Amino acid sequence: MTSAGTTSLPPLTVLTEDEVLLRQSVREFAEAQVRPLVREMDEQGKFSPALIGELFKLGVMAVEIPEAYGGSGGTFFHSVIVVEELSRVDPSVAVMVDVQNTLVINAILRWGSPALQADLLPRLATSTIGAYALSEAGSGSDAFALQTRARKTDEGYVISGRKLWITNGNEADIFIVFATIDPQLGYKGITAFIVERGTPGFSVGKKEDKLGIRASSTCELIFEDCFVPPNRVLGEVGRGYKVAIETLNEGRIGIGAQMLGLAQGALTHTIRYTKERKQFGASIADYQGVQFQLARAAMDVELARLSVYNAARLRDAGRPFLAEAAMCKLFASEAAERTASLAVNLHGGNGFVKDYPVEKLYRDAKIGQIYEGTSNLQLQTIAKQVLG
Ligand SMILES: Cc1cc2nc3c(=O)[nH]c(=O)nc-3n(C[C@H](O)[C@H](O)[C@H](O)COP(=O)(O)OP(=O)(O)OC[C@H]3O[C@@H](n4cnc5c(N)ncnc54)[C@H](O)[C@@H]3O)c2cc1C
Repeated sequence: MTSAGTTSLPPLTVLTEDEVLLRQSVREFAEAQVRPLVREMDEQGKFSPALIGELFKLGVMAVEIPEAYGGSGGTFFHSVIVVEELSRVDPSVAVMVDVQNTLVINAILRWGSPALQADLLPRLATSTIGAYALSEAGSGSDAFALQTRARKTDEGYVISGRKLWITNGNEADIFIVFATIDPQLGYKGITAFIVERGTPGFSVGKKEDKLGIRASSTCELIFEDCFVPPNRVLGEVGRGYKVAIETLNEGRIGIGAQMLGLAQGALTHTIRYTKERKQFGASIADYQGVQFQLARAAMDVELARLSVYNAARLRDAGRPFLAEAAMCKLFASEAAERTASLAVNLHGGNGFVKDYPVEKLYRDAKIGQIYEGTSNLQLQTIAKQVLG
């Protein structure tokens, strides 16, 4: 306590000077460069290639990559701000950036050998997109039941199998692929490999036609006797389960940030609309019934922000954050669904058509409860922590 009786610790939502600057620059970028493309990318189910170039130029595709490798040298919290701000305008753009930073780069920074880092990080910082391939048709929540096989040979490994639901599948050139060196070993056989687009035996299959985040590509990956040399193992052989668990524990804070930004975007649109829209001779925001609904949505957004920021700050401080990460993702995704649903309701008929942005946010909200661990799996993680 200081002499005035105040604590010297900054409140959770008070940002440092560089965090404020980052938030401002990403917010301006999202309004100027992303907003005009949102509807077309959603309708076509395709990410604008020019926008990808602009995201690299802005530095948000390599938030935590050290400056020596061409990155922004930032913190995990910086990634969270970037994802939140992009998601206010388009959660599809946010998830591309999120997977690049919180899963792919995060895993390579933590588990990559110096040689692998020297090869991959400068590319990921300047022009190359990454993807993270764990899920398969038969293994989603039960991720370590994966069937993709990496057979050891004298020269390295030969990968065979299929991955499903892989974000950035269409745009990525560097893929982190989880495969087992021996199914008999259970989770202790799982190994992470770096596989590059163009490697013989590796191809990108069907792209999914989705309910929401339609501009983000979600693809099948096919491996048919795909040779990978031993220096492309990420981390140790048989320790891929640790690579997966540790990156996903952090990655889900990024999904919390995506859902937080979505909820904030929906709320902001709705506040503006309810002030403008007149019925019964007054703005609909003048009616207490509407005001109370907006108050609840504002509370949802505030609590989502507190839990996401707290989990991210715990992570950056090197403190345990497992339960907090699961809670923030679960809460923020439910808050996003509730807020986007209210946004549609309060826009009336306009909430149901594509000329207004909220019907898309409503569709986009649903994914937060599914990927990087469904809500039931988050509850399982929280319960384990609570019960000890
Ligand atoms: C758009 C999109 C993008 C994705 N991106 C990626 C990616 O980049 N990389 C990647 O590897 N994967 C990705 N995924 C896959 C995603 O992580 C999985 O879809 C998710 O983990 C759920 O797995 P599943 O679809 O097999 O559902 P299932 O595991 O079959 O779950 C179905 C239902 O059963 C419930 N359930 C399952 N087990 C239990 C249990 N033990 N107790 C209680 N309830 C249970 C679940 O909560 C869920 O409600 C993506 C998916 C989508 C849709």
